[in-house]
Amino acid sequence: MTETHATSSDCIFCAIATGTMDADIVKENDRIIAFRDINPQAEMHVLVIPRAHHGDVVQLAKAAPETLAELVTFADEIASELADGQFRFIFNSGPQAGQSVFHVHGHVLGGQRLGWTPA
Ligand code: C5P
Repeated sequence: MTETHATSSDCIFCAIATGTMDADIVKENDRIIAFRDINPQAEMHVLVIPRAHHGDVVQLAKAAPETLAELVTFADEIASELADGQFRFIFNSGPQAGQSVFHVHGHVLGGQRLGWTPA
């Protein structure tokens, strides 16, 4: 569905990952960056992304499964640092599922009791 590149010139999350667009960064390393969602849906709502451009979670899983595993570890550490260690980790994959930014990102949600399920 989506192409995979190291970076994409028209991608806002590549711009955040390279520092050319501001974000409220909570944690980062050489491969991954995590920042607060500008439209939070929970007390804690952080996005975790690989710095390299992959269109969605399936593309990432096929190209770099170790990075996908590291995103999970990042989410766990963020939930422990910002909340009580419990979290929901969501990857919207495709427009019908709600994906609007086509650089893979996991939503880390928590800090409160969460409802279930999405409509
Ligand atoms: O899963 P989906 O693609 O819809 O999620 C994109 C998310 O990116 C939204 O929750 C939106 O609020 C967030 N966003 C952001 N900073 C931007 C652009 C979008 O946090 N500059």
